[in-house]
Amino acid sequence: MKVYISADIEGISGVTDLDHIRREGKDYDTARMLMTNEVNAAVEGAFEGGASEVTVNDSHGSMINLLMEELDPRVSIISGAPKPLSMVQGVQGNDAAFFIGYHSKAGTEDAVMDHTYHGRVVHTIRVNGAELGELGINAALAGHFGVPVVLVSGDERTTQEAEALLGNVEVVATKEGIGRFAARNVHPAAACKEIKRKAQKVIQESRQRNPYIIPPPLRLEMDVLFSDMADRIVMVPSVERVSGRCVAYHCEDFVTLYTMMRAMILIASTAMR
Ligand SMILES: [Zn+2]
Repeated sequence: MKVYISADIEGISGVTDLDHIRREGKDYDTARMLMTNEVNAAVEGAFEGGASEVTVNDSHGSMINLLMEELDPRVSIISGAPKPLSMVQGVQGNDAAFFIGYHSKAGTEDAVMDHTYHGRVVHTIRVNGAELGELGINAALAGHFGVPVVLVSGDERTTQEAEALLGNVEVVATKEGIGRFAARNVHPAAACKEIKRKAQKVIQESRQRNPYIIPPPLRLEMDVLFSDMADRIVMVPSVERVSGRCVAYHCEDFVTLYTMMRAMILIASTAMR
C-alpha cells in the first residue's frame, strides 16, 4: 500500500495568521514546525496501518516549508516549485492520498485563510459548473490517476467541504474558524494524535474508496478579482472571455485543465498592483 501526502499549511492547528504562512513572517518557523509535526503524525499512522511506502509533497507557497531533518526518515519528500502537478506532484501510482493542513475554498464563511490557489487573483473557480477549491481540484487530479483521497485535515469548514465533495472520506478538524484570521484551535498535540489515529485506521481498513472523478468534457471557468487580469488571460489562444472578470476554457482531460488553470493564475498575477 503506497500512501501519498499533500501537505499545505493554512489548515494546521495553531496557524491563523499571514505571519505564520509567509517565509518572511515573524511566526513562520513555528508554523513550519507545527506543519512538520502533523505530517509526521500522518506518516506514522500510515505506516502503523500497513503502508509500505509514504511520499510527502510539500504543497504550500514556494513548497520548501517542511523541516527536512525533523521528518520521519522513512518518507521520500517532494519539495520546491514550480512542479508540473504542483500540490499533487507525484500522486500517480499511489493507492491512497491524504490532504493534510488543507483550507477551504475562497469565499467560505468562518474559514481560516480561505482562498483558491492565489488569494490576490482568484475569486472563484468552477469545473463543469461546480465551484471547487484546492481540495476539490487536487482531489479531481488525484482521481484522474485513479487515486482516492481518504483523509483530509484542516479547519472545520475544510472537513465539511471534504465530506460534501468526496463523501466517503476520513477527516480531522484541527480548529474552528472564528473569522478569516482567527480560530479556536485543537491543541497541536491533540490534533497530531487524532491525525495519527485516523491515518492508521483508514489504511488498516483498506476499504474500497472511489477516486473523485469529474467526467469529460471539462469546462474550466475562473472569476478573477479585476478585469485587467482577465484582459491578460485571454491573450492565451482558446481561452474565451465570458464577462468582465470571467474566463473559460474547454478540454478533455484533467491534467490539461489543471495546467491551464495554473498558467491562467500566473498570467493574471502579472496584473497585481
Ligand atoms: Zn497554502
